[in-house]
Amino acid sequence: MNTIDLRSDTVTKPTPAMLHAMFNAPVGDDVYSEDPTVNELQEYCASLFGMEAGLFCPSGTMTNQIAIKMHTQPLSEVICEKTSHIYVYEVGGIAFNSSASVHLVDGYRGKITPQQVEAGINPDNVHFPVTSLVSLENTCNKGGGSFYTLAEISAISEVCKKHGIPLHLDGARVFNALTASGDNALDYGTYFDSISVCLSKGLGAPVGSVLLGKKNFIEKAKRVRKVLGGGWRQAGYMAAAGLYALQNNVERLQVDHDRAKQIGQTLALADYVAEVVPVETNIIIFRLEDHVNTEQYLNYLKDKSILASSFGPQMIRLVTHLDLTEEMMLHLLEALDTYQA
Ligand SMILES: *Cc1c(COP(=O)(O)O)cnc(C)c1O
Repeated sequence: MNTIDLRSDTVTKPTPAMLHAMFNAPVGDDVYSEDPTVNELQEYCASLFGMEAGLFCPSGTMTNQIAIKMHTQPLSEVICEKTSHIYVYEVGGIAFNSSASVHLVDGYRGKITPQQVEAGINPDNVHFPVTSLVSLENTCNKGGGSFYTLAEISAISEVCKKHGIPLHLDGARVFNALTASGDNALDYGTYFDSISVCLSKGLGAPVGSVLLGKKNFIEKAKRVRKVLGGGWRQAGYMAAAGLYALQNNVERLQVDHDRAKQIGQTLALADYVAEVVPVETNIIIFRLEDHVNTEQYLNYLKDKSILASSFGPQMIRLVTHLDLTEEMMLHLLEALDTYQA
């Protein structure tokens, strides 16, 4: 049995069809904006979300950090949930890159409410940093793949518009959110000033994220990408993988969600599991009973060629993705079912 790597949906490898698209991509120098495949990816991705323009970047961390830099100034503040990727997993980049402060909201499963956003906006007073950005994550990674509906996004956007504060979306798994909510990607353009979309998560591309926004925003964002070292040359080979992913791997995300639910159901019945966070998309987070040793459990899985992530004390995370086969699923469910603590 090949390794069943469920540590993240970033571990997927390009299929022969994706590699074929990459090898055959027309390319040029993207620092001169002359790579036709990069340009096609940027325009296509922007059109999906009702946004004017896009910027292809090496990572989702870079697209988020560029957006934050663009929307903030030193002495200003970003409102986000306390477990947000931009705060927890981007090396303190908000401080390092933007010299900005953070207002952390104590949300539920990674999600925040319009009331919390409104309460977090600083009054115009010399003591306080200027609230200059609100950032949402959809789906929420640390929230166990929970998602916002368009109605929830619209209500938060209303608060932002009332106060003249831009709204950013960390959409690393935005297509998982759209699959689960049934909302239309096109409507996102009405509510967000910038969107970061990851191509290297559940969509299966090897590398890359796209930042979306208005035309002049993206023009200026190019400078920020350049200073971060993200001006790349014949990036069209990577963009071709991204285009292939957007055109072929979005619809199948429902399979990942169905499998995640099935895994969650199996875990809920296991006597060594104390709690399974309700599965909404492709992420399963569960808590082991106190008497179960987390490391021993992970080693048990490893002996059965299954890789999982430790996600805090007694907590384990599994993420389903397109490299998981039906045969692997059967093997996995059997292994989860038969563990003896
Ligand atoms: C993966 C991820 C990112 C971006 O990560 P990179 O590894 O830098 O591409 C951003 N936000 C969330 C929620 C993520 O899961």
